[in-house]
Amino acid sequence: MPVDTIIAHGDVVTPNSVRQTSVAIDDGTIVALGTRDQLPAARRTVDASGKLVMPGVVDPHVHIDEVPENRAGTYRAETRAAARGGVTTLIDFAWQGGDRRIPNNDKGLLDGIRNKRSKHQQSFVDFSVHGVLHRETEETLDELEAAVDAGVTSFKMFMSNYPVGVTNGFVNMAFNRIAELDAVAAVHTEDPSICEALTAKFKREGRGEPDQYPLSRPDYTEAMAADDALQMAVDKGVKYYGVHTTSEKAAETIASYQEDESHIRAETCTHYTTLDDSVYEERGTYPQIAPPIRKPRDIEAMFEHLEGGALSVVSTDHSVYHEEYKAVDNWWESPFGANSLQASLPVFHDEAVNKRGYSYPFLVRLMCANPAKTFGMPNKGTLEPGTDADVVVFDPDDRYTITARDNESNSTFSIYEGREVSGKVHQTYLRGNLVWDDGAIVAEPGVGEFVERDLPEWTQ
Ligand SMILES: [Zn+2]
Repeated sequence: MPVDTIIAHGDVVTPNSVRQTSVAIDDGTIVALGTRDQLPAARRTVDASGKLVMPGVVDPHVHIDEVPENRAGTYRAETRAAARGGVTTLIDFAWQGGDRRIPNNDKGLLDGIRNKRSKHQQSFVDFSVHGVLHRETEETLDELEAAVDAGVTSFKMFMSNYPVGVTNGFVNMAFNRIAELDAVAAVHTEDPSICEALTAKFKREGRGEPDQYPLSRPDYTEAMAADDALQMAVDKGVKYYGVHTTSEKAAETIASYQEDESHIRAETCTHYTTLDDSVYEERGTYPQIAPPIRKPRDIEAMFEHLEGGALSVVSTDHSVYHEEYKAVDNWWESPFGANSLQASLPVFHDEAVNKRGYSYPFLVRLMCANPAKTFGMPNKGTLEPGTDADVVVFDPDDRYTITARDNESNSTFSIYEGREVSGKVHQTYLRGNLVWDDGAIVAEPGVGEFVERDLPEWTQ
C-alpha cells in the first residue's frame, strides 16, 4: 500500500541531529524516516533537496481574539499567519467569564475554554489554551480540576499592574492547587506597585515619548516579581513556567532557583533575542509590549541562558491591535502587544543560526520539541514515527525583506518591517495536510483542531 506523502531528500532536523533523509507520511502521521529506497511507494512525493525539513513550530504563548482592540486578531487570520510562519501548534488563552471581551460573572473558566475551543472551525493550525486565573476566589480554584480533565493542563497568572493582575496571596494559594493537580503554573512577572507608581510619575511629568516607555518598567521589577513567584513555587513544589523573560536580571533570578529543568522552566520571545530598546525611537509605540524590549546586553543574556538551559523555549506573545490604537501620542495610551507569529521562525533562525552560529537542532529544541514537552503534547514538536505529521519545509538560503504588506495577520504593521532575513517557510503540513504551499494558503479553515493536552512530565 502506498503512503500518502513522502518528503524526499531534505536535511531533516531533530532535536539532536541533522541528516539528509526522507520522511513518509500516512493518514496524518509520520510513519517512517529513511532513504528513499527504504520507504514505501507514495501517492505524492515532494522533493526537499537543499531544504530543511523540521517539525512544525509549537508556539506556547499567543493571544488571539481577546481584548476590544484585539478584535482585529481573529482565528481565521492569525492562524493563517501561523501556517505561513511554520507554526503548526499554538497555545492561546481561555479567560474566566467566557470571553475576555465580554466577561460574564455567571460564567467561569470552563466557559472560557469552551469559547476558545469552538474557534477550531476557523483555524488553520492546531491549538490549545492556558487557563487564565484572574478572579481571586475559591470558585476559581474549584474549577481547575475540571479544566485539567478537559485537556487544559497549565494556568497563567499575571503578577502585573493590569486589570487582570493578581496578588501574591492568591498566587500562593493557586500554586498549591496547581501543584496538587500536577499541572503547570505560568506566570507573567513585573512588580505591580513599582510599575504603577512609575507610570503615574511619568504621566505627571509628561514623559510620554515612546523611548521613555521601557524606563517605566525597569528590569529589576521583572526580577523582583520573578523572585517572589519562585520563592512560592519552590515552597509548593509546583511546575513553574516563567513567561516572556526579557532581561539579564530576571534570567539570572530564574537560573538561581533552577537546579535542573524538572521543576522550574522559562521562555523568552523572539523579539527579546533580536531587538533592543532603540526600537522605541525607530518605531514609536508599535513595539510597545510588556515587559519592554531591553538593552543590547540583555539580548546577549537571553542567548547565554537559552544555551545554559535556564530559558528553554522561544515564543512570540503574538497579540494583534488595530494600528489606530497603537498610533497614539503618549505611550500610556497604547495597548501592550505586537504581532509576530508569521515572522518568528525566520527571524529567530536568522538571528540564532545565521548571525550567531547556533545549530538547527538548537533551534528545533527551543521552538518545537521543548514547548511541546513542557506543555504535555507528545505528538507535537517532533518527527518521530507515530507522531502527528506537522512538518515544515524551510529554505535557509531564501533571502527577502520582511514587510507588513505580506502579513496574513489582520495586523497592518510589523515590528520587523524592513528587516532582511535569510530563511523562508516553503511548505507547512498539519497532520499531513498541506496548509501553506510556496506563497499561498491551500487548506480550508477548520483544518486545525483543539489539542487536549496531557499533564506534562518534566524531567531534566
Ligand atoms: Zn502574553
